[in-house]
Amino acid sequence: MRFAVILSLAALSTVFAQKRTVADEEVLRVHRSALLIDTHNDIPTEDAGKDRPLAARVDISASNQKAHTDLSRLRAGGAGAVFFVAYVSSAYVDGNRGSTRAQQVVDTILNDIVERNPKDFTLATTADQIEAIHKQGKIAALIGLEGGHAIQNRLDLLRTFYGRGVRYMTLTHTNTNGWADSSGDMNDAAVAHHNGLTSFGKEVVWEMNKLGMMVDISHVSDKTFYDALEVSRAPLIASHSNCRALANVPRNMADQMIKDLAKKGGVVQVNFYCNFLTNAKPPRATLADVVAHIDHIRDLAGIEAIGIGTDFDGIDCAPEGLEDVSKFPNLTRALLENGYSAEDIRKIYGGNLLRVMRVVEKVAAASK
Ligand SMILES: [Zn+2]
Repeated sequence: MRFAVILSLAALSTVFAQKRTVADEEVLRVHRSALLIDTHNDIPTEDAGKDRPLAARVDISASNQKAHTDLSRLRAGGAGAVFFVAYVSSAYVDGNRGSTRAQQVVDTILNDIVERNPKDFTLATTADQIEAIHKQGKIAALIGLEGGHAIQNRLDLLRTFYGRGVRYMTLTHTNTNGWADSSGDMNDAAVAHHNGLTSFGKEVVWEMNKLGMMVDISHVSDKTFYDALEVSRAPLIASHSNCRALANVPRNMADQMIKDLAKKGGVVQVNFYCNFLTNAKPPRATLADVVAHIDHIRDLAGIEAIGIGTDFDGIDCAPEGLEDVSKFPNLTRALLENGYSAEDIRKIYGGNLLRVMRVVEKVAAASK
């Protein structure tokens, strides 16, 4: 009976675009039933600043109100899995220091975050492991590498990063590298562009397919995206990107790109940065803007194409209502109020990303 009432209210809310009322217990029940995966958290480099040397260590177990992320707030927000990002600034291209820097940040993730907090984190490198760790009541820690200049145009370094646990690589950051164009410098005439991926860039994508590393197209130019989409034998992810139709910045995705990504099984992991959520001034975005991007991707490409990649601790403005990692239940409430089902929310929060990971793993296993 209760189920029927909810269904009819959901139907009404679609017709009249009215919000339904959701009880706290329902929010909690649905939130706890999901395995929440955030594919982009920058706490490993937040502590010392993006371009400065890393501090001695990142103590995620200490309360850190300056940051978006610490352990107690991750727990309060119900985090199931977090991709911690080994971010490498373009400044490290000079002198070929990108790989060393990336190794340093991977060390921070493995030693400072995971090993020092064994009751709360376990490193995961597969979808099955994420689910198993979640069942133990711990948070699965994963590693993403941002961006492609960290491999210094060498496949052996790509393989080394896979061996240390890296499970996605963002092909570029805001800088065009030796093999892929970035959306961040397409208007800079001083930069030598490649018209998308070079032939070596395509080899990088194939090697990632062979290894079982997800190909992340956040930050890349439109042509790089289409080249990667064409040559990759596995679905792509955008680990932290939004819709250009709602916030017109080059690193967000055009409607057609979102449709084409989804057609090949990929997911867009929605970014919480104010300036990528709205062009409105002042640019403090809200929870409603995050829901608007989720709605837009759903309308274009279906519920299977949506995920969460906050960019927390890589951003200086987070939305009102989603100020840090503890606030995810607010998003669950907003999605329920806007007519999303519990099953929809489970897909958005992690089900879709786990699906992509499993296809990526299958493609890798088939190529061995
Ligand atoms: Zn980024």
